[in-house]
Amino acid sequence: MPAEFDIIRQYFQRRIDDEQLLLGIGDDGAVIRPRHGHDQVVVTDTVIEGRHFPPQFPAADIGWRALAVNLSDIAAMGATPRFAFLNLSLPFAVEDWLQEFARGFFECAQASNTLLAGGDTTQGPMSITVTVIGEVPQGQAVRRSGARPGDFVCVSGTPGEAAAGLELLQQGVHEHALVQRFRRPQPRLALGVALRDIATAMIDISDGLLADLGHVLAASGVGARIDIDKLPVSGALLEYAERPADYVLAGGDDYELCFTVPADQRNRLTSMGEGDVTVIGEITAERALRVVDPDGNDWQPLRRGWTHFSTENNNEA
Ligand code: ADP
Ligand code: MG
Repeated sequence: MPAEFDIIRQYFQRRIDDEQLLLGIGDDGAVIRPRHGHDQVVVTDTVIEGRHFPPQFPAADIGWRALAVNLSDIAAMGATPRFAFLNLSLPFAVEDWLQEFARGFFECAQASNTLLAGGDTTQGPMSITVTVIGEVPQGQAVRRSGARPGDFVCVSGTPGEAAAGLELLQQGVHEHALVQRFRRPQPRLALGVALRDIATAMIDISDGLLADLGHVLAASGVGARIDIDKLPVSGALLEYAERPADYVLAGGDDYELCFTVPADQRNRLTSMGEGDVTVIGEITAERALRVVDPDGNDWQPLRRGWTHFSTENNNEA
């Protein structure tokens, strides 16, 4: 079994040449020089076996997801990722597992121009924490608190697919387009940047569209009306689910972006070249989150999303 320092050297230390990273892995601390005229955005997320992914989940996918979920938070701020820190707690140092984990992690890092600049490696129950430092032009980070009555509520991609994929995974299905959506979430980094000067508020969907939109509404002091017939539903989800809207509204793990734009900016959305964005409703002054059918009647979702420590969870991994 390799020792801590061998693990770091063998699996995580790569040659890095970057003008902002003055010192990376190998010393007591990384030294980073902030880019002039930029603010730094720092995010961190922990993933735990059995809670965020099922036992026996492929190590390469764990590595990819551990970084991708953080990049999704960076995207939701309108920022660009720069450096990652990886805190690994593992019961055993299994070389095949580490090899695959590192492969998935670095695939995601390369796809997003993120450099691994440090971390920690300890023996203990399996827990993986990644921290990412990103940057955004000064004052331009997109918050949750800027939504105003009359703004359109928008969502990227086709949320709900990852939750369906997780169900399939739990039934032992591994190769399926929906499962792939759970295994390899694609953080919306380009879209987040493109929305910087359009979106009034933004969040990434990790816990379910309604749950996460609820955070935007609370932070902004507003409500919203969501039109059930406007929700984007993929062909694969339509085929899989009896009530696809429940997956779209409450399925977690999609890492799509939910954001609000002023009504007069709507045409910029389509000319942006970021294609798959759907307007699903409108921000209201009345502080309630309503989902309505085409006749204007309230639509009752079966479930509302994921909350840690809640007694009402019904879509546990
Ligand atoms: P110290 O004992 O001084 O805290 P460590 O042995 O924890 O040092 O780490 C040595 C170096 O390796 C540091 O630069 C640290 O950031 C880096 N490092 C440790 N574990 C990891 C990891 N899993 N991924 C990336 N870098 C790591
Ligand atoms: Mg240390």
